[in-house]
Amino acid sequence: MPHLRKGINYNDAHEHNLLVDNNYANSNIIGVIDFGDAIYTHKINELAIACAYACMYAPEPLRVASHVIKGYHKYFRLQENEVEVLFSLISARLLITVSSAAWNRHQEPDNEYHSISEQPAWDLLEKWREIAPSLAHYTFRSACGWEPCPNLPEFRSWINTQSDFHPIVDLQNKKTLDLDLSVGSLMLGNNSNFQEIDIFEIHIKRILEDNEADIGVGGYGETRPLYTSDAFQTEGNDGAQWRTVHLGLDIWSDTGTAVYAPLAGVVHSFANNVGDCNYGPTIILEHRIDESFRFYTLYGHLSLDSIESLQVGDSIEKASIIARIGSHKVNGKWPPHLHFQIMLDDLGMQGDFPGVAYPHNYDTWLSICPNPRLLFVELEKNETLGQLNSIEISDIRKQILGPSLSVSYDQPLHMVRGFGQYLYDINGRRYLDTVNNVAHVGHEHPRVVKAAQKQIGLLNTNTRYLHSNIVKFAEALLETLPPELCVIHFMNSGSEANELAIRMAKTYSRAQDMLAIEVGYHGNTGACIDVSSYKFEGKGGKGTPEHTHILPIPDTYRGLHADSDESGILYANYIDSSIEYIHEQERRVAGFIGESIISCGGQVVLPEGYLKQVYKSVRKAGGLCIADEVQVGFGRVGSQFWGFQLQGVVPDIVTMGKPIGNGHGLAAVVTTREVADTFANGMEYFNTFGGNPVSCAIGYEVLQVIKDEKLQKNAFEVGNYLKDRLIDLQQDFSIIGDVRGEGFFLGFELVKDLETLEPADLEATYLANRMRQRGILMSTDGPHHNVIKIKPPMVFSKANANYLIENLRFVLNEDFVAII
Ligand code: PMP
Repeated sequence: MPHLRKGINYNDAHEHNLLVDNNYANSNIIGVIDFGDAIYTHKINELAIACAYACMYAPEPLRVASHVIKGYHKYFRLQENEVEVLFSLISARLLITVSSAAWNRHQEPDNEYHSISEQPAWDLLEKWREIAPSLAHYTFRSACGWEPCPNLPEFRSWINTQSDFHPIVDLQNKKTLDLDLSVGSLMLGNNSNFQEIDIFEIHIKRILEDNEADIGVGGYGETRPLYTSDAFQTEGNDGAQWRTVHLGLDIWSDTGTAVYAPLAGVVHSFANNVGDCNYGPTIILEHRIDESFRFYTLYGHLSLDSIESLQVGDSIEKASIIARIGSHKVNGKWPPHLHFQIMLDDLGMQGDFPGVAYPHNYDTWLSICPNPRLLFVELEKNETLGQLNSIEISDIRKQILGPSLSVSYDQPLHMVRGFGQYLYDINGRRYLDTVNNVAHVGHEHPRVVKAAQKQIGLLNTNTRYLHSNIVKFAEALLETLPPELCVIHFMNSGSEANELAIRMAKTYSRAQDMLAIEVGYHGNTGACIDVSSYKFEGKGGKGTPEHTHILPIPDTYRGLHADSDESGILYANYIDSSIEYIHEQERRVAGFIGESIISCGGQVVLPEGYLKQVYKSVRKAGGLCIADEVQVGFGRVGSQFWGFQLQGVVPDIVTMGKPIGNGHGLAAVVTTREVADTFANGMEYFNTFGGNPVSCAIGYEVLQVIKDEKLQKNAFEVGNYLKDRLIDLQQDFSIIGDVRGEGFFLGFELVKDLETLEPADLEATYLANRMRQRGILMSTDGPHHNVIKIKPPMVFSKANANYLIENLRFVLNEDFVAII
């Protein structure tokens, strides 16, 4: 302390003394109050006091301190010796807080302000004393942009002078292979390859065999998806998180493989770290280089007998066999491998040491645990497996992709893996997906993936050759529909489906005029945009085309007839005036296109009787009725397989897309025999990719999985459950004006005022972004952008629903509305 800089400190930067601006998403401190504690003292105390307050209430105080230090250092450069004492000074400050609160309470028992920080200071002290002081020191150094572990440069220079470490396993006449088990690794592949130990073991063996290798090597610094199950979930400052960054080098070899000491050392500690995904038997050796410099090596996933006769302090000779690789029965349920790690600090631990780190502070951990390949020239990586990082991708996208493509969220996500109801980003963080109804039966469902892989390895052609897949799939699809709808055409996207459906309606009726619903979206092609009021009335739109006639959105919450019991009829009546107008122009009606629940319009459920009446009028005028089931079909609405069944109608044409191929480009138009025959007027409908054997194999498998896994029933039960929980939430938070939807097609609308229904659009965007920070993907929609949509993969569980509600409650409780 005597050597540290002194100056005049403000010394009281806590949340009751800071003034911030109203930039809610990214607020700045614009002033401070209360100079009663200002004093001439060591400069570093200023930061210690700010950190002590800022860290209160946070699940991960060190991470908060890191942010504060980083910000402070940006404006006031810290010195290394100041950062060295910071952890202790923060502790000291907390002790002063609790002591002076006790003293003040004694002096002035009625003054509550004196004790305002007492309990949170005690809570923080409890967490603070669990932190290894040296780890805090390294973390703080990292926040300042310095090498986190100050011993690393010395270790590197020492290792550069060494050349003859003994190989850790016998590599003579053995071929090694770099194994990439990172989150985006094609080598690792689908999650089903590693979720069960037996299969994972076979998978690793197969990779080695396929590459004619004996030993797999890799993993240092790799971001892995292997630990992201519920069992390893912890609660961080931003919700659920997982340790994903691997700190050691893995050597994948057979059970029983001998492990050699690469250099001499003594046994520092050993333990059997039991539990799934743990190390099992583990040995840590200490290596003293000189009086002041030592480091440690860790050997994990060993056999039980490896630690049976060890004693702490035993000398270990270089090149001696110290252990053997354990089987999955004892090694934490892993395929047999050695986890070998170097540590420059034992952080006060015995027999155990983190082998994986959280991605937010991986640089600190990788500095404490340098690359074990430094020891072994033989194991040097022969290729770089690196992927483009997120910033590079963003930059290149901007340069060479069309600027009308958008990305979601304030901080875009870089996804590299999906499984079930989860997506995984490049850091291995798992996100609960409530948005992607395309991944209908779950992201990368193994059965669907396999069906595609098998067929693409055999044949992929077009519909001009006979193939059984197309008829098998078509028959299975027709089984789900009313008997009148009995003829199918296949294509590749929802837009193409609607484009064809509109052409069919126009050909059949020999008319041009289409009726559609306000804020509807039906696709990106010319004819689809012309019936998509969401687009032509939105940004860059040119207004309603001459041959399009828009019916008001039949919204029962905020629409024209929201308050009426007869709203279905009242909304449907607009069709007659539109038809009358078309006839006045001496034109006729080609058809009507509408979704069965309006998605882009904000998850608007059609009022009872609406489609019955609309269909009746359209048919009377000679037009066809198209149900756009691109979003809502395939059991999503729970009580029915198709959305139009909610309204008790049978359309003339049904268009399908998104979920039909579970992410693969596939779409279909189903119609009546009469419409299909009239459309076949001599002009061939050829679609190069539509209905190809691979697409049809996928489509068929998706239908089977929906059936086998009873996903429609799940949408009904869990969807209803979730809707009820959202209604409970609505009772507690008046910002939720309406909760609506069916099955797994739900939405809730945010309003500023329950009387005026003024849309809370900024709040909705904020909520979606905040949920994303907490690891839950949600999206906004509706004409006022104030509706949060929920349309998850159909495997979404009741536990997922509870977790979603918990997090919504957490964020809504953060008082963000007041902040805005
Ligand atoms: N119809 C509806 C209701 C849609 O939501 C979409 C896509 N969002 C489409 C059609 C167009 O489908 P695609 O993007 O596959 O062309």
